[in-house]
Amino acid sequence: MTHEELVKLDHQYTLQTYGRFDVDIDHGKGARLWDLAGKEYVDFTAGIGTASVGYGNERWAKAITDQALKLGHISNLFYNQPYARLAQTLCQRSGMAGAFFGNSGAESNEGAIKLARKYSFDKYGKGRGTILTLKNSFHGRTVTTLAATGQDVFHNYFFPFTDGFRYAEPTMDGISEVAGHDVCAVMLELVQGEGGVFPMDKAFVHDLAVLCAERDWLLLVDEVQTGVGRTGTLFCFQQYGILPDAVTFAKGIAGGLPMGGFLVSERCRGVLGPGTHASTFGGNPVCAAAALEVQEILDDAALEQVAEKGQYLRRGIEALELPCLGKTRGLGLMIGVEVAEGHTNKELAAKLMDAGLLVLTAGHNVLRLLPPLTITREEIDEGLAIMARVFGE
Ligand SMILES: *Cc1c(COP(=O)(O)O)cnc(C)c1O
Repeated sequence: MTHEELVKLDHQYTLQTYGRFDVDIDHGKGARLWDLAGKEYVDFTAGIGTASVGYGNERWAKAITDQALKLGHISNLFYNQPYARLAQTLCQRSGMAGAFFGNSGAESNEGAIKLARKYSFDKYGKGRGTILTLKNSFHGRTVTTLAATGQDVFHNYFFPFTDGFRYAEPTMDGISEVAGHDVCAVMLELVQGEGGVFPMDKAFVHDLAVLCAERDWLLLVDEVQTGVGRTGTLFCFQQYGILPDAVTFAKGIAGGLPMGGFLVSERCRGVLGPGTHASTFGGNPVCAAAALEVQEILDDAALEQVAEKGQYLRRGIEALELPCLGKTRGLGLMIGVEVAEGHTNKELAAKLMDAGLLVLTAGHNVLRLLPPLTITREEIDEGLAIMARVFGE
């Protein structure tokens, strides 16, 4: 099939909800991808942070095929080993106390929202169901997680949205302005991803955690993008010196298979009892086996390298002093690069793509880099060389 034939087929039979790049991808290895025509790309996107252990990873593929041949799916009416073992690994590595598994980031956040409302209902009864989220946040595409998302552009078309969210500036004054007796939780990303790669201030996060404890608000951390090693620790909250009541994850958890979920703290372990929450495919054995292998691959030494490689990539970009790019920011291999005035992130991303480097965009005018966490220095250097060549003139 040619690129043109594929595009025609896609346009004829699929809903055109995505503003796709005019590129198809056929296969990959490590941090490299190839399209149908055989053109090679260096990939700084990792399928929006999902292909955490790179493409064509043999250990990951073997874990999946072995589990698929053993037991592909069984439902949560029965115990299964990968589910329980994955929960154990995640809890032991994060200091959290219990896990629930679903299929996507939005579903994971919905679970955390339900957890907070149930916790509060059990203790205080009705009227305390409001969750504070931050301006410029992103929490998902379901009706409720769109409502949780603190960006007006997302609050369109699909009325009525779910009640019970208020949006705060990421400061303690901002939180005070929207606080009230109806609040049960705060939900935030520690590095706002879709919003433009903005790491939260450490003092703010610390003070917010203290306030949550004082008011008995649950602290819900959305680590759908920052989680599973992306920022150089298994979860980003581990760098902020806080222990959330719930932390959600998805994107990178199973190395590119659809999986999400959340971990809860000791005091929230019993909140969602039998019959209160469920997901038919949640914790599917094949996805859980893939996620367990991702945990093995991303051991503590690999996570340290994520932090180092992130520094190396950021310094590399800054050292190029390209006129169309500005400052870099981020944590680990979650990097935002400001785009200089007179340029747009879309235009720059398209130019890089033509030259064989895939990057993401975010926020108003930011390039976002989320390479596979197993990317090599050589692959990083290759990406930097493409940037220098395309933007150097
Ligand atoms: C991607 C993302 C989501 C939504 O995840 P889906 O799997 O698309 O539902 C939610 N929160 C954050 C922080 C994300 O980056």
